[in-house]
Amino acid sequence: AFSDIPLGAADPILGLNEAFKQSTSPEKVNVGVGAYRDEEGKPHKLDCVREAQRRILERDLDLEYTGIAGIPEFVSHAIAFAYGNDSPVLREDRVAAVQSLSGTGALRVASEFIARFRGAGTPIYVPNKTWGNHIPIAENAGLSVKRYRYYSEGTCGLDFEGLVEDLRAMPEQSVVLLHACAHNPTGVDPTEEQWDQVLAVVQERDHTVLFDSAYQGFASGDADADAFAIRLFAAAGVDMLLCQSFAKNFGLYGERVGALSVVCQSPEEVEHVLSQLKLVIRPMYSSPPISGARIVTEVLGDAALRAKWYAECKGMATRISAARVRLREEVERLGTDRDWSHITSQIGMFCFTGLTPEQCDRMVSDHAVFMTRDGRISMAGVTQANAPRIAAALHDVTCR
Ligand code: PMP
Repeated sequence: AFSDIPLGAADPILGLNEAFKQSTSPEKVNVGVGAYRDEEGKPHKLDCVREAQRRILERDLDLEYTGIAGIPEFVSHAIAFAYGNDSPVLREDRVAAVQSLSGTGALRVASEFIARFRGAGTPIYVPNKTWGNHIPIAENAGLSVKRYRYYSEGTCGLDFEGLVEDLRAMPEQSVVLLHACAHNPTGVDPTEEQWDQVLAVVQERDHTVLFDSAYQGFASGDADADAFAIRLFAAAGVDMLLCQSFAKNFGLYGERVGALSVVCQSPEEVEHVLSQLKLVIRPMYSSPPISGARIVTEVLGDAALRAKWYAECKGMATRISAARVRLREEVERLGTDRDWSHITSQIGMFCFTGLTPEQCDRMVSDHAVFMTRDGRISMAGVTQANAPRIAAALHDVTCR
C-alpha cells in the first residue's frame, strides 16, 4: 500500500547534523544547528532550570492532562515575560493566550487561526530571508506566503528602505510576520528608531502583525530590552499575534515550551478568540505537555530563580558576543580585503556570512566546518578554541 510513496526531501539542518555525526575528522565543528553550546562545545543546561526541576520533582506532582490551553500559571508568566508586567494590554485583560508546542507549534496554531478567520489562501508576508520553517508552516496551514524586502546582500545589513516600501505597498490589513528580535538567519534587527517607523507604516496600513519571538533575551542579554518591538506594538494598539519559544532562552529545546497570544480590543473579544484557539488545538494535539511549562513557571514565579535566569541568559549572550569578536579578529588577521564587520554588527545566535552555497559546501568538505548552504553560522557553536579554525576555513573558501 505504501510502495509508490516517493522519498521526501531531508531537512537541511537535521541532515547536516547526521553528516556531522558521521564525519571522522578529529577537528570537526558543528555550526549548523541553532542550539546554544558552552565554551567546550557542549549542550548547556541552565542552573536555574536544574534547580526548578529539583523542586518540581520533590513535590511529586501528578501527571494529569492540563487543559487545551495549557497550564494557566505558565501562560500568565509567559505573556508577562513578553509584554511586561506593567503592560496596558495585560492590565486591561486584552490578551488571549495559550500554551503551545514551543515556537513552531505557536506559529502553526496562529497560521491555522488566521487561515480559518481570514480565509484560506490569505497572504502572509515574511521577510526575505527568514527561518526556513516559516514557509511550510504557513503553507501547510493554508496561507499563501509572500516576501517583503529585509536583508541587503550588499551590506549584510537591513534593507530598511525596501522594508518600509514593501510594507507600504502591501494591501491594507495584510498579515505581516516580523521577527521580534535576533532575526534568524541574518542576525539583522531594526534599531529602536527604525522599529518606530515600521510601527508607523503598520498603523498607516492597518496591518496585522504576527510576531515570532524565539530569542527573547538572546539578542542583548536582557529579556526586557529584547521585547522592545513587542511592547511598542502592543502599546500602540496594533492587531497582533505573538509566538513565543522558550527553547533557546531557557535551554528547554526538547521540552517544547511556548505560548501563542493574540492582543484583542476587549475582554469579550479575548473570550471569543480563546474559544477559537481551543477549537484549533483540540483536534490537533488535545493539550500540550506539562513538564517544561512547569519548569518555566517555577523559574519565572520565584524571585531568586528568576534573577538567576536573567544572569544566566546574559551569560549566554555575552559568550556569543565574545565569540563574534574573536571570530572577526581571527579572520581579519588572515588579511583578506573582504569586509567582515557584519560578524560583530549582527546580533543573536546567528551570523549570516554572505558565503555562496558552493563556498558553504567547501566549508564542510574541505574543513569539516558543518554549516547550512545559506551561509548561516550558528555563533553558539563558535568558541575561543575553535574560532581560529573556523576563521581559517572562512578565509580559505572566500579568498580563492
Ligand atoms: N522561530 C524562529 C525564528 C526560530 O529560529 C525557531 C527555532 N529555530 C523557532 C521559531 C521555533 O523553534 P521551537 O519550535 O524549537 O521553539
